[in-house]
This record gives sequence, C-alpha cells and structure tokens, in this order.
Amino acid sequence: MKWSKSYLYTLKDAPADAEIPSHQLMVRSGMIRKVAPGIYTYGNLALRALRKLETIIREELDKRGCQEILMPMVHPAELWQETNRWSEMGDGLLKFENRNGHKFCLGATHEEVITDYVRKDIKSYRDMPANLYQIQTKYRDEIRPRFGLMRGREFVMKDAYSFDADSKGALKSYDTMYAGYKAIFDRIGLQYRIVEADAGNIGGSQTHEFQVLAEAGEDHLMVCDSCDFAANIEVAPAADKVPHLSADTTEKTLEEFATPGLKSIGTLSKATGVAERDLVKTMFFSANDGRDPQNKDLKPVAVLLRGSDEVNPVKLKNALGLVNPPLLLTDNEVKEVTGAWPGSCGPVGLKFPIYMDTGVAGLKNFIVGANKDAFHLRHVNAGRDFAVTKTVDLRLARVGDKCPKCSAGVFKSMRGIEVGHVFYLGTKYSKTMNATFLREDGSSHPIEMGCYGIGVSRTVQAAVEQSHDKDGIIWPVGIAPFHVHIVVLDPDNSEVSQSAEIIYRDLMAHGLDVFMDDRAERPGVKFKDADLLGMPIRINIGGRGLQNGEVEIILRKTKEMTKVKLESAVESVAAMVTQMKRASLQS
Ligand code: ATP
Ligand code: MG
Repeated sequence: MKWSKSYLYTLKDAPADAEIPSHQLMVRSGMIRKVAPGIYTYGNLALRALRKLETIIREELDKRGCQEILMPMVHPAELWQETNRWSEMGDGLLKFENRNGHKFCLGATHEEVITDYVRKDIKSYRDMPANLYQIQTKYRDEIRPRFGLMRGREFVMKDAYSFDADSKGALKSYDTMYAGYKAIFDRIGLQYRIVEADAGNIGGSQTHEFQVLAEAGEDHLMVCDSCDFAANIEVAPAADKVPHLSADTTEKTLEEFATPGLKSIGTLSKATGVAERDLVKTMFFSANDGRDPQNKDLKPVAVLLRGSDEVNPVKLKNALGLVNPPLLLTDNEVKEVTGAWPGSCGPVGLKFPIYMDTGVAGLKNFIVGANKDAFHLRHVNAGRDFAVTKTVDLRLARVGDKCPKCSAGVFKSMRGIEVGHVFYLGTKYSKTMNATFLREDGSSHPIEMGCYGIGVSRTVQAAVEQSHDKDGIIWPVGIAPFHVHIVVLDPDNSEVSQSAEIIYRDLMAHGLDVFMDDRAERPGVKFKDADLLGMPIRINIGGRGLQNGEVEIILRKTKEMTKVKLESAVESVAAMVTQMKRASLQS
C-alpha cells in the first residue's frame, strides 16, 4: 500500500479522553476514530492488525478441531429469559423492541443462542465432541467505556463453545482450548500470565484468564514470587504469611465504653492504642442482589473483617451464593437494621446472618461498635457474644500473603489486561435450556459445555500497550499491519522512486506486507510518522545512499540501522522478518 493513495491521517496530539499510551497511539496513528463513547471506526491499519490476529486464531482453532460459524447479533428476549440472564445481566444488555413490540437484545455473549442451536441438532453421544466458534461484534452497555478498544461498548470477540457427553470429555475440551490460547498468544509475541479467575455470571466451575501484563491493565493480579501460581485478586486466597493471633488466651468480661467522635478505624485505633489489624470492623450488605426486579426486600448481612483489611466483593458474592456482588447498605439502612449510625455498629445483638473473615478468627477480646451511637464494646469474643453464620475467606489478598500453592512463596502484585477467558460450564445452560442427548444405554443427559472468549479488538490494543516507546507503536511482527515501511526520501528523484518501486514489488513478491511512504513530505516528517505507525522494519531509500548503491534498514524496536546493497535489500529484509517471527515464538 502506498501512502499517497491511502486513507491515512496521523495526528500530532492525542485527544483529551485518551488516558493511556495505547489509546493515544491508536488515535494518533489514525488506527481508530471515536464515533460515540466505547464505539469506534477501525481505520485500515487497525483492521489489518485485527485480521491478522483473526487469522492466527482461526488457524490455531481449526487445527484443534473447532469449526467456525456466525450467529446473529440481535437475540430474541425469550432465549435470555430461559436462563434468567435477561434480568441477571442487568443494564449491561442493551434491550429494545421491534415494530411488532417483540423484545430483543444485542448479543453480549452467545451461550443462549448456541445452546438453542445445538439442542436442535445434537441428539446422541455420537454427535460429540463438538466445538463451534465465531468471530463477531459484541455489544455490552458498559457503565464506563474507556481506554479506546480496551473497554469498548461495541467490540470484536472470538467466542467458542464446546459440547461433550461427560465431564471428562468437557475437561479434555477445556485443556485443548487452554493449549490453543497459549499457542495464539505466543504467536502474537505477547507477555502474559494465565491466572485463576472468578466464573462471574457465566456460571461454571473451572476457569482461567489470559492476562497481558501491562501497568495500565484494569485487572489486579496476585502472582507468587517463587512458583507459577497466579490469580486475579478477585479470587486470590488471602492468608497471612505468619498467622496473626491475639496474645490473650482467656476471654475477658464484655464492657461498653464511650467513643464520642470515633467513627473510623483510624481514629478508634489512635484513641484506644489498639493496632488497626487487632480491631474488628463490621460492614453491612444486602444479600438481595436485584436478580428479581419485583423483590425489593432488604436482606441484611453483616461482614466482620480486621480493621486493616478490605472486603473482597467477589468472595462475598460467592460466599452468599449470589450472581452479582451485593450492595453496601446506605447509612440510613444501617441505622434501621442496627439501631446505630455507621461507625458505632457491631455484631453483638444482631438478628441477621454474620459472615466472619478467617482473619478475625484468630482474634480474642476485640473491640467492635455497640450498636448504640458513640459507644463501642471491648473484650468481645465470637461464639460467646454473637453467633457466626460462617467463617470464610472474605478479604482482599495483599502483597506478602502466603502463596496457596507452594509453601515458600508470597504474593507480589501485577496489573493485567484480560485478553482471553476459558470456562468449564458443566450443565448450567444445557440443563436450564433442556439441551439433552442420549447415551449408549438410552438414558437422557444434559450436554456438558465449556465456553471460551478472546477479546480480539482488546488484544490488538493490548499489544500496543505492551509494545511502544515515546515515539510510537512497536508492532509485534505477528499482527503488524505491514511488515515493512519504505520511506522514499526524495520521491522527485526518478532513480530513487524507481528503485523504491522495485523493492516494494519484490518484497511483496516474497509474501511480505509492504507500506510505502511516497508522499511529497520532508524526511523528518516521514521518519516521525514511521516511528508512530510502528511497522517492525523500515527501509530508507534516498539519492545519497543510492550513489553508493545502498539503502538503510532500521529495526523499529531497537532503532538499530544497517546499510545494505540495493541488490541484497529484499533478501535481507525477508530474512529479518522470518527471524523476527521465529524469535517471537521462542520468547
Ligand atoms: P471484563 O472483566 O474485562 O469486563 P469479562 O470477564 O466480562 O471482561 P468475558 O465475558 O470473559 O469478559 O468476555 C471474553 C473476552 O472479551 C474478555 O476476556 C475480554 O478480552 C473481552 N472483552 C470483554 N468485555 C470487553 C469490552 N468491554 N471491550 C473489549 N473487550 C472486552
Ligand atoms: Mg472474563
């Protein structure tokens, strides 16, 4: 492609809403343009990167026995009502009616549609295993779309679904997809970690996320500093490296004491001289997660944590068996259910369930609010002074916590961008949607399912987030829009333009994707743009070099320059691209 004939407009400055480097670079390089929040037009260069990634995905999935299909983007409400996700997904689903008053939503994911598809065809164990995938535009009405393609409302996803006759087969399908994902992300040359994750409202049990490591990542990961254990903080088990136990062994007599103005753990700790981690804080949530829009009942639960710890909403959601994390009670609701304003509340005397974090279990004779404004209780003991509904790990893991897999390691913290997700679903969808098959003995069973997503558009931008410098993008060779960027230094010089044309054609004849900047611009402008666009290899062709029969080859990543003879330029560049592809596979 020649710049003079292409639709490509680079920008000097990034728009104000572009907060992270990859978003800024994607806009500045003309790869994406915003249409509305979270909704973008992809320019030709971005589309090329996207298509290359799609090709890698198709190759890796097809060779593992997956088959591509294409499902609709508009889904009838009835399918989503069958699984109750029409209400469970909340406002994330964009719902609308057609002219006949029929309700629809835009596809945010396709478990319902695919389960409906297979229940019409799969009848016997002989029809399985089956694995179907699509690469398609999804719509999720994200509350806060941001970071360009990273968290869009409209985005491209590859979603795959596996169907097996038993759980053994389903786990084998899971392993196959897990391996396929590794191959895909290795081929792109990304640095990533595979982490344990929450199954979210998709359901199911076994699940891993593929996280591209980057400071700007929205996901917080806990990674062992000595083994390969890694988990999204949402599910990372929290355990002290050295168990924290109170020095007291005997339980003392309960006492009430006045604490005017002491509403936070910080002020209480200062006034009492008790360390924050030895104080116990009480939080209040409603176990009514709004799944049933008709039911507005407050179902209060109290959560006890050490004063220095933070609650993990996902662990709490799972402990309560909810679909979505529970909402914190408002101050007024707390007053209503405890008799006191927040800051003076505690577990003693409550008439509703109390969930206690395992960290609190090691404490004796601790201080809590008295459920009476401006009063606290001291020498409080679980079991004696209040009943615990369940003691369970509810706190957010922190740096230095003990690794659950190896005895030696502790957690360190990393940021990640979730680019892929694999789930073992079991029979959650097949049971509710009645997708059954007959075993050899004639008995009927729900199909065992798995689902597997890759954020295709997000991955393209994640690659940029991980691979750029102050001057622009450094495309990994596997998804670079073009392998080579030829800069024609003086296009008016016919010897230069003819040589450039020959190199351009010869490189393409070698199967390379070649971009040529043949505009009538100054070299400085062209170099800046070449750095911004970020193709792995640049060739400079100019009059001065040609006098010696030479051109310059520059590697975008290291900016390393070599001069080569005009005749050998094509061979050298082709060899470099091959070498880069090999290196990205080995790294
Ligand atoms: P997130 O936690 O980031 O909201 P998710 O866990 O809800 O994502 P999945 O349902 O697992 O997403 O979807 C599969 C993949 O689709 C994700 O791993 C991610 O790469 C991509 N994806 C999800 N939401 C978005 C979005 N709003 N914009 C771009 N890509 C997305
Ligand atoms: Mg996910």
